[in-house]
Amino acid sequence: MTLTEEEQQIILESIRNIPDFPKPGIVFKDITTLLSNPKAFNTLMTHLENRYKSYDLDYVAGIDARGFIFGGILADRLGIGFVPIRKKGKLPHATVAEKYSLEYGFDEVEVHIDAFRNKKDARVLLIDDLIATGGTATAAASLIEKVGAVCVEACFIMELCFLNGKKNIKSPVYSVLEID
Ligand code: AMP
Repeated sequence: MTLTEEEQQIILESIRNIPDFPKPGIVFKDITTLLSNPKAFNTLMTHLENRYKSYDLDYVAGIDARGFIFGGILADRLGIGFVPIRKKGKLPHATVAEKYSLEYGFDEVEVHIDAFRNKKDARVLLIDDLIATGGTATAAASLIEKVGAVCVEACFIMELCFLNGKKNIKSPVYSVLEID
C-alpha cells in the first residue's frame, strides 16, 4: 500500500529543511514540524497503520530517538508491543550490541537481550524517521536477528536515495518519502 499524491504532499510539506545543521553541507530534515501538524501526523500514522495491519507483526522496534515517536504510536495502533533500540549505555538490563562506522570512528546501538523473547521467531517491523548512509538501520536490523527475532521490513519516513543506504539491509525496505 502506497500513499496518494495528495497525502504525500501533505507529509512532505510539513517537514522543514534546515541547511547546514548539524554541520556545513548537511540539509537536516526536521520532523518536529510534522509532529506539530495534526493533519500531516495523522495522515502519516493512518497510512502506516493501513500498510502494516496485514503484516501479522508481533512488535515494532524503533531507533533512538525519533523512531520511538512513530514506532510507539504505530505499535499501539496495531495492538502490539514496542521495543526501543537505543544508543549505547542507555538500557538498564542485559543487552546485545552492534557497532557501526561513522565518517570518523564508531557508534553502537543496543537492545535488551530478552526484548522479543516471549515469542519465538517474533515478526518485527523496524522503524526510524530517516535513512541516510544506512549505518544505524543496518546495525539495528542485524540486532533484531541477533536476539532471535525476524526483521520483516525496515520502514523510514524519509530515504535519502542518493546515499543508497538500504544496500546492506537484508529485509525489504519501505520509505514513505523517497528524496532524490
Ligand atoms: P545513517 O546511519 O547515516 O543512515 O543516519 C541515520 C540517522 O541519522 C537517523 O536516525 C536520522 O534521524 C539521522 N539523520 C541522518 N541524516 C539526517 C538528515 N539529513 N536529517 C535528519 N536526520 C538525519
